[in-house]
Amino acid sequence: MRRNLEQLGGAEHDVLVIGGGIQGACVAWDAALRGLKVALVERDDFGGATSANSLRIVHGGIRYLARGDLVRMRESTRERSALLRVAPGLVQPLPVLVPTGPPGVPGRAAFGVALTLTHLLSPARNRDLHPSRHIAAGRVLSRSECLRRFPALDRDSCTGGALWYDARMTRPERLTLAFVVSAASVGAQVANHAEADGFEVTGGAVRAVRVTDRLTGRSHQVRARQVVIAAGPWSQALAGLAQERPTPVPGSPRHALALNLVVGRRWSDAAIGLRSDPSSEADPGGSGGRFLFLAPQERTTLLGTWYGVTHSGDGHAAALERGAETLLAQFNRACPGLGLSEADVLGIQWGRLPLKAGLESGPAAILAERPRGIGPGGDGPANLRIIEAVKYTTARAVAQTVVDGVLNSLSLEARPCRTAETPLVGAELSQGDRSSVAQRILYAAEEEMGVTLGDVIFRRTELGDLPGPDREAVMMACRIVGDARGWDQRRRDAEVTSVLGAGPA
Ligand SMILES: Cc1cc2nc3c(=O)[nH]c(=O)nc-3n(C[C@H](O)[C@H](O)[C@H](O)COP(=O)(O)OP(=O)(O)OC[C@H]3O[C@@H](n4cnc5c(N)ncnc54)[C@H](O)[C@@H]3O)c2cc1C
Repeated sequence: MRRNLEQLGGAEHDVLVIGGGIQGACVAWDAALRGLKVALVERDDFGGATSANSLRIVHGGIRYLARGDLVRMRESTRERSALLRVAPGLVQPLPVLVPTGPPGVPGRAAFGVALTLTHLLSPARNRDLHPSRHIAAGRVLSRSECLRRFPALDRDSCTGGALWYDARMTRPERLTLAFVVSAASVGAQVANHAEADGFEVTGGAVRAVRVTDRLTGRSHQVRARQVVIAAGPWSQALAGLAQERPTPVPGSPRHALALNLVVGRRWSDAAIGLRSDPSSEADPGGSGGRFLFLAPQERTTLLGTWYGVTHSGDGHAAALERGAETLLAQFNRACPGLGLSEADVLGIQWGRLPLKAGLESGPAAILAERPRGIGPGGDGPANLRIIEAVKYTTARAVAQTVVDGVLNSLSLEARPCRTAETPLVGAELSQGDRSSVAQRILYAAEEEMGVTLGDVIFRRTELGDLPGPDREAVMMACRIVGDARGWDQRRRDAEVTSVLGAGPA
C-alpha cells in the first residue's frame, strides 16, 4: 500500500471519501470492490479516532429485541455474521453474561423467552462461518453457574443469569485498517495524514477538494465526481466549508462525549452486563438505569460506557475526569465486589457520538439511533453526501446504502455489493504468527502505511497496548522505521518524544 499524494491529485476519481474511520473505510472498500475509481484521505491515521475507542462489542441485536425493534435486531445479527465471516482473525464470538436478581433486570423466565426468540429469529447467523466463529444459542444460568463465571457478584442478590453470544473486535483500529488495505488491494488510492481542508465548488457541485499533506505541508487538488464526507464528529463542520452560505450550527449540542475506562484486571472470560442505578444527571445513553459492561480483553478489561453532554466552554479534561469518576462509582455501586479504585485505571478511551439533536425523533439530548446521512443536494453541492455513523457494528451496511446512492448519482447500473462475504486482506484466521516483532514493525512501515512511529506502535502492532510502550521498545521501533524511511536524527528524536508523550488513550 503506497502513499502517493501527487498521484491522488492526478486523474479524476469516481468518488473521494474523506475520513478513514470505520465508516469511510467501509465506503472506500465497497466502492472499490464494485469497480469504482476511489480515493480515500484521512487527516491523522486510519481508524485512530472514534473507531479506535469503541468498547469493541459487535452487537448481535438482543437489546433491540427487548425494545421490539426487529428491524435493527435483524440488521445487527446480519452485520455480526458479516464481520465474523470477512474478518475472522480480528472478530470472535464473545460470551455476554447478565446476572439476574437486581432491581430493573429482567428475570430468568423473561430472559429465557428472549433468548429463544433471538435463536429462532436468526437461523442464518452461522452461514459460511468458520466453526470457531459460530454463534451458539444463548441460555439461562443457574445461580451457582453464574457465580462461578463471575465470582465478584453479590451472592445475596444473585438469582442466576442469562448468557448469550455477541462478538468482539480484538483490535478495532486494525479492523478499520483491514478495510483500507482491502480497498487499496483492488485499486483505491488511499492516504493517511492527508487533510481535506477546502472545496472548489462551481455550478452547485464540488469540482475538487484541497487535500493537505500533513507531513510535508503541500496541498493537492483532488478531483472527484462524487464526494463522501465520513469524518465522524467533524463531518458537519467540514461540510460547512463546501457551502456558500453555511447552515448556522444550532446552539444545542450535537454530540455527546462517550468514555470507557481501561483497567488492568480481568474478572471473567464473558462480558458482564450490570444494571446501573438511575443517574441524577442527564444521561444521553438513556434515562433511568441502563446497562454498563465489563468487556474482557487479553490482559485488561474495558469498562463502559459513560455519556455526557458537553457545552462549548466546558473544559475537555475536566469533563473526562468527571466522566471517569462517575463511571467508576457507577460500577462500584452496581457490583461492590469489583472493588474498583482509581489505581486500577490504566487509561481512558473517549470519542464523540451524535445526539438526536432534533434531527431524529425523540429527546434532543439522547444518543442518535440512526446514521446521519445528508445529501446529495439540499443546501449543499449536488455531488456531496455526508454520513455519520452511530455504531461500528453496522458501518458496513451503512456503506452499502451510501455506495448504492453513489452509483445511482453517477448514472451507473446497480452492481451487487459483495462486502458481506468477501474476506478482508490481513484479517484471516492465522495459524499463529511466527514473524518477529522487528519483522512486524518493518511490515507495518513498508506495507501498511505506518508513516509515523505512532502509527506503527499504536495502531499496527501490540507495542502500544496499555499501560503503554516502554522506552526500549520505542527506541527499537524507531530504529527500524527510521532506517526504512531514511529519517535523520532530529526526526527520530521528535517521533520518539511524540510517542512517549502521547500514549494511546
Ligand atoms: C466510548 C465509545 C464506545 C463505543 N462502543 C461501541 C461498541 O462497543 N460497538 C459499536 O458498534 N460501536 C461503538 N461505538 C461507536 C463507534 O465507535 C462509532 O460509531 C464509529 O467508530 C464511528 O466511526 P466513524 O468512521 O464515523 O468516525 P471516526 O472513527 O471518528 O472517523 C472519522 C475520521 O475522519 C477523520 N477526519 C476528520 N476530519 C477530516 C478531514 N478534514 N480530512 C480527512 N479526514 C478527516 C478523523 O481523523 C477520523 O479518523 C463506541 C463509541 C465510543 C466513543
